[in-house]
Amino acid sequence: MEVPPYRRTGIVELGELARLGLLPPERRLRRGPVAVLECPEMIPCNICVPYCPTKSIRMERLIDLPAVDWETCTGCGMCVAVCPGLAAFVVDLSKEDYDYVTVPHEFLPVPRVGDEVVLLSRRGERVGRGTVIRVWERNRTHVVTVRVPKGLGMEVRAVWVER
Ligand code: SF4
Ligand code: SF4
Repeated sequence: MEVPPYRRTGIVELGELARLGLLPPERRLRRGPVAVLECPEMIPCNICVPYCPTKSIRMERLIDLPAVDWETCTGCGMCVAVCPGLAAFVVDLSKEDYDYVTVPHEFLPVPRVGDEVVLLSRRGERVGRGTVIRVWERNRTHVVTVRVPKGLGMEVRAVWVER
């Protein structure tokens, strides 16, 4: 069996996420905030399922990939807060001027609302700068929503605070 590229690189590319059915359809992405669970491995984890307030994440078996009902997902970000793999994100591509991305953040310094931060891609490369618009915390995981240049919503997956 062919080894998926992310096993070698540690980076799950968009094409792989699409192949695994983990990406919301374009029309849903353009409608408002929605969860993107970048969780390609059959691992024994389902913590996002019971924590979703709208019951939008489904798994038949503990090792299945999480299946999101993108129609009922409200983009609340609870899955971002509880995912131990830091694999859950919320993306909002519905606005004309900017995209919005919500990412988990577990290192210091913690971003503050209004901070201008460095935007990092899923490869850890700097792809631009954005502005933090919301920060909340649950069990020491900070959930950070950042406004990013239009077109970067599906690229940005972490932020870096230069303070
Ligand atoms: S963003 Fe909220 S509603 Fe959507 S899947 Fe995650 S926990 Fe559920
Ligand atoms: S909590 Fe995270 S790692 Fe676990 S199934 Fe959900 S998305 Fe995957």
